Amino acid sequence: MSFADLGLSDELLRTVTDAGYTDPTPIQASAIPSVLMMRDIIGIAQTGTGKTASFVLPMIDILAQGRSRARMPRSLILEPTRELAAQVAENFEKYGANHKLSMALLIGGVSMGDQIKALEKGVDVLIATPGRLMDLFGRGNILLTGCSLLVIDEADRMLDMGFIPAIEEICTKLPTARQTLLFSATMPPPIKKLADRFLSNPKMIEVARPASANVNIKQLIVPVSASAVDKRVRLRELLRREEVTNAIIFCNRKTTVRELNKSLRQHGFKSGEIHGDMEQAQRIAELDLFKAGTVNILVASDVAARGLDIKGVSHVFNFDAPWHPDDYVHRIGRTGRAGATGTAYTLVTPADAENIAEIEKLTGHKIERVEAVSTPAVPRAPVEEAPAPRRERPARAEYRPRAEAASPVEAPERDEASIPAEQPRAARPERGGRDRNQDRPRDQDQGGADEGWNGPVPDFLHVAFTV
Ligand code: AMP
Repeated sequence: MSFADLGLSDELLRTVTDAGYTDPTPIQASAIPSVLMMRDIIGIAQTGTGKTASFVLPMIDILAQGRSRARMPRSLILEPTRELAAQVAENFEKYGANHKLSMALLIGGVSMGDQIKALEKGVDVLIATPGRLMDLFGRGNILLTGCSLLVIDEADRMLDMGFIPAIEEICTKLPTARQTLLFSATMPPPIKKLADRFLSNPKMIEVARPASANVNIKQLIVPVSASAVDKRVRLRELLRREEVTNAIIFCNRKTTVRELNKSLRQHGFKSGEIHGDMEQAQRIAELDLFKAGTVNILVASDVAARGLDIKGVSHVFNFDAPWHPDDYVHRIGRTGRAGATGTAYTLVTPADAENIAEIEKLTGHKIERVEAVSTPAVPRAPVEEAPAPRRERPARAEYRPRAEAASPVEAPERDEASIPAEQPRAARPERGGRDRNQDRPRDQDQGGADEGWNGPVPDFLHVAFTV
């Protein structure tokens, strides 16, 4: 099937050709004709499948008819994070180049005044995170009664972040006679319930998980001991051994992200970090450095795992094996994008065996084990250390005897495994709960109240503009 068979306008077909797309992806082939026929859709698909264009392209044709009115957006796209919202906005800008549609982006972390001004001019497409939208709605700056097309994107991620009640409330503010498109990588019961309540006779479209189907990603497991020192030594060996153009290294906790980045920099690597505790401006700056190649290693928490579309990421390293198999799929999906090849290494401690088994069950792929390069660090009994010179000796509370020797090839460093974990391992969150956010370990970084990690904020962010 070609794009010409999907019912898109000639202008859009030109845009698609200009974008270099020859054939529609499976989700595009299934969704575009149905969206154009005004049907509700449930799309079980994740980033990397071309799902954004599957709703943006037909929306552009639908919205080409009609005019926007002040404070009454004609369509609404809900995204869980500012980054994803900004990425969808970029897609509208790209695909809408031959149309005159106005768009506004409502996301946390940027001035509300400019967003209100944009809304007052009237917009065809409003792209928002639920928190900021509810805020502006509460202040009376926005009316959703003219919104006849709703897209709920990354619904399972919305569930993870505790946004379902806000989405339910938003749905009740829109006209009942509307078209609703819901996209989700998985369909846990709360999302199914949401769909049953707010969608009408939806067409169900399911496409293969890109990561499980993506043969371009070479997946490898490196067994390591639970010692953080050992893990860092193994990681550095891999970084030096591999031809790393640029890499994202995922950790389960923000503390680990910070400590690992510090350690990598001390060992001469050009690395940066991204996690949900950072200010918006800092996150953007770090990502820009990574995109520009000023740093070629980005140490990240799971907020960077979904949706990030950076070309040419050669490697993903899971410094910590993810707690949930879905997160593994999202993390490794940052490499091997757009037909390129990529490599994903996961450092696996004996305690991670169950997680790995779940990942292999989900992806249906047995991950190859590779041996570590050098002899693992051998734990030894704590040794008496001569007191450090007065100035260098750490404060009493921080002082710990060195518990493990480092690898023979590396200078010893402090073992962060000796730092009490912020949350016991047993507190591992379960999937599919009512609000999984409540179960998450305190430091597991899912973005939470600040709506997650943010990518670069495009120039058009502050104002409505014509695309
Ligand atoms: P998405 O799943 O929407 O995040 O898209 C993933 C990537 O696929 C983006 O970089 C898109 O530009 C690209 N893409 C979308 N549709 C197509 C297509 N039909 N052919 C080739 N690449 C595409």
